[in-house]
Amino acid sequence: MSEDLHVDLAVIGAGPGGYVAALRAAQLGLKTVVIEKEFVGGTCLNIGCIPSKALLDATHLLTQIRNASAFGIRVEGIEVDYPAMRQHKAKVVKMLTGGVRSLLRKAGVTLIEGEGSFAGPGVLQVDRAVSAATSSESKGGAGGRVVVRAGSIIIASGSGEAQLPGVPLDGELVISSRGALDLEEVPQRMVVVGGGYIGLEMSSVYSRLGTDVVVLEMLDRLLPEMDQEVAETAEKLMREQGLDIRLNARVSGVTGRAGDAEVAFETTEERQTVATDIVLVAIGRRPLTAGLGLDAIDLEPDPRGYITVDHGMRTGVPGVYAVGDVVPTPMLAHVAMDEGVVAAECAAGRDAAMEYRAIPAVVFTSPELASVGLKEEEALARGRKLRVGRFPFRGNARARARNDVEGWVKIIADAETDELLGAHCVGPEAGHLIHEAVVAMGYSGYSEDLALTVHAHPTLSEAFKEAALAVDGRSLHI
Ligand code: FAD
Repeated sequence: MSEDLHVDLAVIGAGPGGYVAALRAAQLGLKTVVIEKEFVGGTCLNIGCIPSKALLDATHLLTQIRNASAFGIRVEGIEVDYPAMRQHKAKVVKMLTGGVRSLLRKAGVTLIEGEGSFAGPGVLQVDRAVSAATSSESKGGAGGRVVVRAGSIIIASGSGEAQLPGVPLDGELVISSRGALDLEEVPQRMVVVGGGYIGLEMSSVYSRLGTDVVVLEMLDRLLPEMDQEVAETAEKLMREQGLDIRLNARVSGVTGRAGDAEVAFETTEERQTVATDIVLVAIGRRPLTAGLGLDAIDLEPDPRGYITVDHGMRTGVPGVYAVGDVVPTPMLAHVAMDEGVVAAECAAGRDAAMEYRAIPAVVFTSPELASVGLKEEEALARGRKLRVGRFPFRGNARARARNDVEGWVKIIADAETDELLGAHCVGPEAGHLIHEAVVAMGYSGYSEDLALTVHAHPTLSEAFKEAALAVDGRSLHI
């Protein structure tokens, strides 16, 4: 049986891009539906940011407890209850995804659980998931098809894992980050293909739990999206933590079975193999547009599969917007959320635009790595004349008190105007601290603004002030 629904706005996908767009649209008075085929909260809440951080936080605490003797605390008989750690992760995911459902309900957004696709301009058809029929907050009815007619439509269908040619994911020997976040047992040996942020975060989790981790990265450096100096420091520190990192290593095949396998890879000099129990492929993500019926509205993704948009997140098709991992902007949850807000506001007739100049990026290893704005090498390649200020955490009193002195802050300013062009940080709480520079850059600030701001003592944030002072050779505590 099919059912017709008329709304102002329909959103495909309830990940960070889609659910935030729906919430903002409802706030602006639009009658809104959001359609979700698998899990409310999307990749981020179910198989991405949140479960990975739950495991990273748990295993970071384990490391801190192991190192507690430096603080005069003797801890004996430390044991990991891995099933309980998994339960902690599952509990966090359940609480947060339940929270998103409740936010949508309170905002008056109708959730339809099923797969949506375009049937024509302004028309979506949704094949409702059978399990959704019992869900009290989703649009009721037993299975069947819903036809949604909407004034505007936002595509927020997200992304899926990129696959390694010739090495298909099988869920046992060769897994993706989704599988790695849900392993029933801690493997003895793991090969991680890809030295990007997902590969390094998962390597950190399992290495802290005792797995021998080998990271194979095709490029000559880790973390190609980040400042070169950040990547080099991260590589050094992660090697010290026990990760076996091989650069210039192109994987050519995997043989064997889970628990007894071999990964073949080629370096610049030779062909090598490494024995392993399991292989995690973390080589990036690809936009998900197949199955959306984009032909029905004559919307063609670019050759890499992304939907191109303008600064108001408008696609070339009137009334159709796209946000999040499906558009060619940084594949990050906070970017998806802000793009969702912009698309909702434009759909409501407001004049909103997305600004990408000061997007923070954080890698939640230990220490954390965080960046905003231009990388130093990028700024130089653009012909900018720079003044760069650096400050190490070993000169910061609070870092000393915490016994957490690895890393530094780097502030990049234009040599002539002092405009803040970028900031990069390796160190304790870098993911929180970077927002000092994010806010300053958001206001088109200068390094002098950071340098003249009074920072509370003793806090880690003083390292940012000192790095800004260092732009003019004025840092005091080094
Ligand atoms: P998604 O979250 O992928 O949501 C898209 C939703 O659309 C999905 O729920 C999907 O089921 C649904 N959908 C797709 N097609 C249809 C259809 N036809 N009908 C109905 N529903 C459909 N980012 C960060 O910023 N910080 C992090 O720490 C971080 N860690 C990560 C760790 C891992 C392991 C991974 C994999 C990703 C991580 N990310 C992180 C990236 C982040 O998860 C994504 O950038 C973010 O989820 C993108 O949001 P989105 O709304 O565009 O897409």
